[in-house]
Amino acid sequence: MSSKKYVFAPGATIGMLGGGQLGRMFAIAARQCGYGVQIFGDPQDSPAGQVSDRAWPSSFTDHDALRQFAKHVDVVTYEQENIPVATVETLLQHVPVFPGPELLKASQHRLLEKNSLRKIGIPTADFLKVNSAEELKQGVTAFGGDAILKTVTLGYDGKGQARVCGESDCEAVWKSFNVSEAILEKVVDFSCELSIVASRFADGSCSFFAPVLNHHENHILDVSISPSPLISDRQTQDAQQIARAILEHFDVIGVLCVEFFATPSGTLLVNEIAPRPHNSGHLTINACRSSQFEQQLRAVCGLATGDVSVQTPAVMLNLLGNHLQNQSPEAWQRVFAHPEIHVHLYGKSEIRPGRKLGHLTVTGDDVAVIERLGRQVRRELMGAM
Ligand code: AMP
Repeated sequence: MSSKKYVFAPGATIGMLGGGQLGRMFAIAARQCGYGVQIFGDPQDSPAGQVSDRAWPSSFTDHDALRQFAKHVDVVTYEQENIPVATVETLLQHVPVFPGPELLKASQHRLLEKNSLRKIGIPTADFLKVNSAEELKQGVTAFGGDAILKTVTLGYDGKGQARVCGESDCEAVWKSFNVSEAILEKVVDFSCELSIVASRFADGSCSFFAPVLNHHENHILDVSISPSPLISDRQTQDAQQIARAILEHFDVIGVLCVEFFATPSGTLLVNEIAPRPHNSGHLTINACRSSQFEQQLRAVCGLATGDVSVQTPAVMLNLLGNHLQNQSPEAWQRVFAHPEIHVHLYGKSEIRPGRKLGHLTVTGDDVAVIERLGRQVRRELMGAM
């Protein structure tokens, strides 16, 4: 369905594919503005289901259920990229879906994603397609004996990845992947990792949040900082320019996040694109007038952009299962005693190490001070003073 003519005013119902924490924070933003939200693909007790009007727990491959769902919503968006493209195509026969399937397709497949970026002149890490142990071995040699093998699909937070060096047993690594095709990337000697969350609207205009500096632990995002003194004005401009080129190339209406490696000379290389709000943008809820979720709402409903300028520096610290295993009322009491700390929990009852259960956003004038405070408070929550 062509979509540019639509404006969905408060009172309309938005369909959200996926019921995780990104769907939850979107639903909270949408309901605050008077929209209904129905989620598809997860049950009512999922993080997003808990705060939505209705949950459709059917599979993304149940096209009859999708057609029924389409009758109950005015416009559809999504909170994760592993939704089959056929799901979006079926929905599109009945209801607008933003962003459309082009970027979704690319972001599901690392080779397609990197080839698309290469085609529009956006720099990435050097990469090769690999179809056998022999090609893996040749690729590792070509990349100077240090490379990362990644599955082309379903990889996130470091899953489906292996570091391969000259001494590695390429036969064994290739066998353990159990795939016919993978991507091999040269290891980037980066000075830092950063990301930018950007939005594009029905009239073609774009908005950009300030770039965010990201620290990962075990390949999972741990801490995000914005604004960061480590990100130069030049890098901010480059990040915006790259995000705009991607938004325009894929004709996106909605929100996306571009993750970058910054090389020691300051150049940005794109690591990944997410066709949705992103963990590194969670701090926008407390740091900006319009959050990344409100921007998603505004974009998919055909509304004007919000104000994405930084109102206060902020640091976001993820709360994973391992951070909350020993949580106690006393520790929470201490967290809530800090007015500059904003608590976000996703309503997940099962605590597993590595599972994203919530985050803390600390706001204040000095990012070094608020980062220290956030880390200290998180240690206290873990039971380690
Ligand atoms: P990904 O799942 O591709 O986002 O990778 C997760 C994390 O692994 C990244 O945030 C980096 O810290 C690291 N990583 C991935 N690819 C590379 C690379 N080509 N060079 C260096 N580090 C990488």
